[in-house]
Amino acid sequence: MRATVMYEAGDVRVEEVPDAAIAEPTDALIRVTRACVCGSDLHPYHQMEPSETGTRMGHEAIGVVEDVGSRVTKIRKGDLVVMPFAYSDGTCEFCREGLTTACVHVGFFGNEGTDGAQAEAVRVPYADGTLFALPVGEDDALMPSLLTLSDVMGTGHHAAVVAGAGPGKSVAVVGDGAVGLCGVIAAKRLGAEQIIIMGRHEDRTALARAFGATDVVSERGEEAVERVRGLTGGFGVHSVLECVGYAQAMETAIGVARPGGAVGRVGVPQEETIPASLPAFFGNVAVGGGPAPVRAYIEELLPDVLEGRIEPGRVLDRVVGLDGVPEGYRAMDDREAIKVMVRP
Ligand SMILES: [Zn+2]
Repeated sequence: MRATVMYEAGDVRVEEVPDAAIAEPTDALIRVTRACVCGSDLHPYHQMEPSETGTRMGHEAIGVVEDVGSRVTKIRKGDLVVMPFAYSDGTCEFCREGLTTACVHVGFFGNEGTDGAQAEAVRVPYADGTLFALPVGEDDALMPSLLTLSDVMGTGHHAAVVAGAGPGKSVAVVGDGAVGLCGVIAAKRLGAEQIIIMGRHEDRTALARAFGATDVVSERGEEAVERVRGLTGGFGVHSVLECVGYAQAMETAIGVARPGGAVGRVGVPQEETIPASLPAFFGNVAVGGGPAPVRAYIEELLPDVLEGRIEPGRVLDRVVGLDGVPEGYRAMDDREAIKVMVRP
């Protein structure tokens, strides 16, 4: 079969690899019908050290179940399923608490030892816990929005939940990538009153406004912090969604939080330490977040997608075939595309 492999920074290839196959009795094999390139794929695209074997890429997919292992009981051959970016058993203490990304058996797709989703097929461990069967056909018009339930919509929602976004609250979203834009949808959906998108790409901030953002702040650093304070009676926002991962983004996030506020971080941190420790401390600002338990959020978000109340699929503004994946990375890296959908 064909799959995407990254060999070093900037070197993404689509090549012939051994066919994905069931290896454990709890596995399923899915034929990928939709996948994506993720903003987090751009981190290795910038930084990966050369590797002889390379790394399989892609962790977001919708696919059709082709085969299941002998101990899979809920997921059936022929199901159309969403595959979250992490696999989880669905039964351990953390899965039962809804933190599926802390599952005692957790693993992440598109890593050493796992298949990647930018491919024709994927082996899915713990299929019953990991996969979610959809009540639609594989070419349903809602496919882009359903695909975001595998990562970006659930991740934006997680940032909003951790930051305590809700009725009457003011929210700032740091980052205008796909996750930040989904964070705007999530904040609006949870009832936030004021939603400030912080970003400087006009096409993206326009989409943020369409999703419910009330204000746009395109400045950076101290100027951005001043603008947000100016928009919020001088004090900053209750809830900040940090959807980037770089130190400056976190510094801005803590800077725009009002005393007693909270930062929900979902951008993969690119530094070992969290900056702005002192302002966070003296402002009693809570900093939380991590890999979103998107599997646990699908039940809650799916009805809003199916009934058209939210349209997170609008962040997928370019479509490529499997051969177009390397070009998809380039387009996202050059900010020509917000997020690229792959149709193998
Ligand atoms: Zn678990």
